[in-house]
Amino acid sequence: MKVLKFGGTSVGSAQRIKDVAKLILDGEQKIVVLSAMSGTTNTLVEISDYLYKKNPVGANEIINTLERKYFDTINELYSTDEYKAQAKKCIKANFDYIRSFTKDLFTLFEEKVVLAQGELMSTAMMNLYLQELGVKSIMLPALDYARTDKNAEPDPAYIREKLTAMLEHNPNFEIYITQGYICRNAYGEIDNLQRGGSDYSASLIGAAINADEIQIWTDIDGMHNNDPRYVDNTQPIRQLHFEEAAELAYFGAKILHPTCITPAKLNNIPVRLLNTMEPAAPGTLISNETELKKIKAVAAKDGITAIKIKSGRMLMAHGFMRKVFEIFETYQTAVDMVTTSEVGVSLTIDNKRHLPEVLDDLKKFGTVTVDEDMVIICVVGDLQWQNLGFEAKVVEALKEIPVRMISYGGSNYNISILVEAKDKKAALQALSDNLFNK
Ligand code: ADP
Ligand code: ASP
Ligand code: MG
Repeated sequence: MKVLKFGGTSVGSAQRIKDVAKLILDGEQKIVVLSAMSGTTNTLVEISDYLYKKNPVGANEIINTLERKYFDTINELYSTDEYKAQAKKCIKANFDYIRSFTKDLFTLFEEKVVLAQGELMSTAMMNLYLQELGVKSIMLPALDYARTDKNAEPDPAYIREKLTAMLEHNPNFEIYITQGYICRNAYGEIDNLQRGGSDYSASLIGAAINADEIQIWTDIDGMHNNDPRYVDNTQPIRQLHFEEAAELAYFGAKILHPTCITPAKLNNIPVRLLNTMEPAAPGTLISNETELKKIKAVAAKDGITAIKIKSGRMLMAHGFMRKVFEIFETYQTAVDMVTTSEVGVSLTIDNKRHLPEVLDDLKKFGTVTVDEDMVIICVVGDLQWQNLGFEAKVVEALKEIPVRMISYGGSNYNISILVEAKDKKAALQALSDNLFNK
């Protein structure tokens, strides 16, 4: 069985929902994972912000506008009065539930419940639409099988057990509809897999049922060789290795959630990125195969802080590195890039929550300097060190841009360069111009 995930724009209007229905109805059994309709999760975040600030009037205004949009979609989507009425009743219940939070204390717990409504609504609407068409479709509620553990990491064994049991109990359906993004935590409370997490849901579901393929359907024809939001003239890549795709996703290629490749890679399930607006386009296939000796793509990760610890004693002091990294471990702060010299070490973090404590502790080992508002530019491909010239081309492309750090050799697939945020666009464009468009 295949798992097909459709993102927000793919289900963003009545017409798009109809197009997706057409696309998935080919007689084959499949699991269809949906995001919320585009803009919905952002609006739910906005509503939550009003509720945190104890502004129920502001919240209600946005809730009413969003509800009207859903009712308009319903009027356009269904052809019979019976299904229109059923869909309105269902969606009204979601909105009434959101409204109920305008009266009570609002915490992170309530916010997660509000955010979950987007995926609950898009899937309910799609399931009803398929039923109106006479399709044998059924809902697999994500809140009944998707769970994270005490470390807030997905619990694959639990997901596999619950999901396979649900499929076994309901064998004779063509389409199994389910929500991306939402789950329960180890305590049974409603939670989510972070923004953009529907891709991660699809990959976890694919791994849980040993799917033949995981398809991520979005609004672009696969992974492009650079970020099309910042760079002109980007092109789709037809084939990527799991490792290459994982690097690109982690280092900012928004088309994939940062960790969504891992479950597919561990279970060797190919991932195909496809375009809902152009279903015949070949997209990108992610698997264990890749074109060798080639730079494939560039991505950028924002919000990076660089920290330099300079210590005259580093050369003789074995254990220096361990002590430095222990500090980051203590404050549960992940380190992305590392470069070293005889007198010091530079590293980057993307989570500044414990930065003051980290800096206080690091100062015991030497002089500490911090550069904020940095960006990691990540160049990805088959870049094994025996292949000549790739790092030279990257450095040559960036000769007009101040570079704070360079990291190469951590894997066969990545060269990372740290630049200031203000130079991000120019750096990405220079890499495209020199690596792909010459
Ligand atoms: P969805 O809502 O379907 O999950 P997203 O907006 O999360 O879609 O991801 C698709 C978007 O990712 C594209 O429209 C594109 O702007 C952006 N993007 C960023 N980097 C890349 C890249 N390297 N290749 C393709 N798309 C990218
Ligand atoms: N709806 C969620 C979001 O907007 C999850 C997703 O789209 O993947 O982040
Ligand atoms: Mg996405």
